[in-house]
Amino acid sequence: MSEKIILLSDVRAPALTAPAALEAPTGLLADALGRPLHDLRISVTDRCNFRCVYCMPKEVFDKDYAYLPHSSLLSFEEITRVAKLFIAHGVEKIRLTGGEPLLRKNLEGLVTQLRALDTPSGRPLDLTLTTNGSLLARKARALRDAGLDRVTVSLDAIDNDVFRRMNDVDFAVSDVLNGLDAAHAAGLGPIKVNMVVKGGTNDGQILPMARHFKGSPFILRFIEYMDVGGSNGWNMDEVVPSSEVVRRISAEMPLVAINPNYTGETASRWKYADGGGEVGMISSVTQAFCQDCSRIRLSTEGKLYTCLFATQGHDLRGLLRAGGNDLELSSAIARLWRRRADRYSETRTVNTAGLSSRSESARKIEMSYIGG
Ligand code: SAM
Ligand code: SF4
Ligand code: SF4
Repeated sequence: MSEKIILLSDVRAPALTAPAALEAPTGLLADALGRPLHDLRISVTDRCNFRCVYCMPKEVFDKDYAYLPHSSLLSFEEITRVAKLFIAHGVEKIRLTGGEPLLRKNLEGLVTQLRALDTPSGRPLDLTLTTNGSLLARKARALRDAGLDRVTVSLDAIDNDVFRRMNDVDFAVSDVLNGLDAAHAAGLGPIKVNMVVKGGTNDGQILPMARHFKGSPFILRFIEYMDVGGSNGWNMDEVVPSSEVVRRISAEMPLVAINPNYTGETASRWKYADGGGEVGMISSVTQAFCQDCSRIRLSTEGKLYTCLFATQGHDLRGLLRAGGNDLELSSAIARLWRRRADRYSETRTVNTAGLSSRSESARKIEMSYIGG
């Protein structure tokens, strides 16, 4: 890692404005490629207590790093208002993320507000959270009581030394495992455990992780290391394809492919032939799933991103704080989604060449800013 060239927040985000013709939401919104809007990911902080080598490398995210000031964060009331508008457009799943979302004070207060929102279809909103698990043992019960449905916990190794090298803050595996147990006991399920596989760093943990979680209440999913942001020095040689992960596990514990739970599911599902439960593969690099991508992301400071690899966000906070009414905000969101044509992962082979250029990677937003 050498110079600091990353983009912390997207200063170029154009302001979202209300279109001349305002329109009430119908619950059915399709983008330019016919994809519906179903899934909203909300980043509640850009800070984190880990320094995962593939996400917030220490050399970049050091004590001089300029995090967002508190005044620029959306308040819980603002987030809830925006979430309500998205639900009226058809969103049925909300994931809270970060940075580390459990670092945001009184997050359960936000969960309470979101839980109170009704969907037009009458189906309950699927309300979930992605966390590194470090504070979960303390927070699981309060989150469940506030109405959170489930959690996804990131854990990149079951061996303490490897895990400490991955999180780079000397955090122990046992604390995350305690968090998982607390979440399970609180009824926050089904619980998924996400392992990012970085070749040469933690791929030796694929089998130990599979062995550990086989037959447990937790669904382990392997994520291909992605070229998000510009600070992790991503290199294709460090991507371990999911097919290789399946091959390695199957050699010891045979796996059988099973059907997805729903269209657009990001993970392909596999079950152990001996009935020991299932594992998932998130092949964001080798098998793009853009064609069913129904996700939009709201940054901590109120910018909307129609793709994880977007180089530009759209500032909703300006309109929100300038007194825009619900119809204006909702119409601005509808116009943004209708124009969306993102399919970065499908075109990555073409783009990959550009990734080696500093100027290209510098323009991409960081995972710790937008939350995955
Ligand atoms: N701090 C929380 C956590 O780690 O679960 C939530 C935010 S984190 C950015 C969300 C997810 O993105 C985590 O599962 C993390 O492992 C994953 N992630 C971060 N950088 C990644 C990368 N370069 N490639 C693949 N996944 C990545
Ligand atoms: Fe923090 Fe999550 Fe990024 Fe790790 S992956 S540094 S826990 S935001
Ligand atoms: Fe969706 Fe963009 Fe990821 Fe494709 S690359 S799946 S459009 S977020």
